[in-house]
Amino acid sequence: MAVRKATELSSKKLVEEVQRWGAMKQTGVSLRYMMEFGSRPTERNLLISAQFLHKELPIRIARRAIELESLPFSLSQKPAVLKVRDWYLDSFRDIRSFPEIKGTIDELAFTQMIKMIKVRHNNVVPTMALGVQQLKKDLDPKVMPKDLEEIHQFLDRFYMSRIGIRMLIGQHVALHDVYPEPGCIGQINTRMSPMQVAHTASEDARCICLREYGSAPEVNIYGDPNFTFPYVPSHLHLMVFELVKNSLRAVQERFANSDKEAPPVRIIVADGIEDVTIKISDEGGGIARSGLPKIFTYLYSTAKNPLDENYPGVNEGITMAGYGYGLPISRLYARYFGGDLQIISMEGYGTDAYLHLSRLGDSQEPLP
Ligand code: ATP
Ligand code: MG
Repeated sequence: MAVRKATELSSKKLVEEVQRWGAMKQTGVSLRYMMEFGSRPTERNLLISAQFLHKELPIRIARRAIELESLPFSLSQKPAVLKVRDWYLDSFRDIRSFPEIKGTIDELAFTQMIKMIKVRHNNVVPTMALGVQQLKKDLDPKVMPKDLEEIHQFLDRFYMSRIGIRMLIGQHVALHDVYPEPGCIGQINTRMSPMQVAHTASEDARCICLREYGSAPEVNIYGDPNFTFPYVPSHLHLMVFELVKNSLRAVQERFANSDKEAPPVRIIVADGIEDVTIKISDEGGGIARSGLPKIFTYLYSTAKNPLDENYPGVNEGITMAGYGYGLPISRLYARYFGGDLQIISMEGYGTDAYLHLSRLGDSQEPLP
């Protein structure tokens, strides 16, 4: 009895603490700032960075925990969503119970802890997807899809915030690397070649296509192979990978039963003054205009959902298509550093995806 009382008390305190922190103002950083700050990873700077995160992370995490409690259509009560909320509460508690960071020993211990927090949250996206899927199953088909707009907007905020939190933690952790790759400042490559990243991402997508369909269309990349600019390669990789996967699937399905050879997917990399734009074009038949408004929502996919029937892919995660997450998540990554993603379709012919990346790196993190 006494024990139960103690946990009740502490959970009441936790709720108050989460409310208090969730109301504080978040502080955004820009790509340029991360780069300038990270170019001198001295002990003193790492200490400053850790002290900043010690204050900033609980604010961002608390906001998400609060929002997870009050989602429409009782999405908050779905077991998968409760699990995600508990991860956020655990991480909030871990950081808040970490004492003031005074010196390098504290700093290293703190870094170790936030590294663990990042791992704890690895599966947030597929787990939330499962929750939304559970909700979709028991919703009256009449509520679809306009009333789901609120859920869509919540997920946009939620995943955008997640990108920011993971960027901050990943950057702080990576600044401890003893032997950084040449030209790299934490996760930022100051001389990233978009053509090279596009090439690796395309090959990765083709591998999955090959595994799933037994063949994969070619991907041709055009642009200046010597052009580089500062960006986060893992983010670009993710976006191109998702877009190429979509293109390969469309081409593959259109030409599967045809005696014509599948036309290649074409990627063009253009280096402008403000933007680097990457266009991914396919001849996969395009998307019907009536379907276009739905492609950036988290609930729309024309593929069979891999979360159905205990599909084992929840943790392994990689299939050609099926979650309906590729486009909305890619657009968030683009927007995170001030870019954008547009899809233009010619039904009956093919699709062009325009991925704009801001070259200037000045834009502040969006802070939902
Ligand atoms: P995943 O989450 O695995 O990416 P998905 O591919 O279905 O699943 P999205 O990438 O968001 O999800 O794409 C949503 C839908 O948009 C697809 O199911 C498909 O119907 C349509 N689509 C996207 N890209 C293309 C394309 N290049 N050609 C034709 N249809 C496309
Ligand atoms: Mg996709």
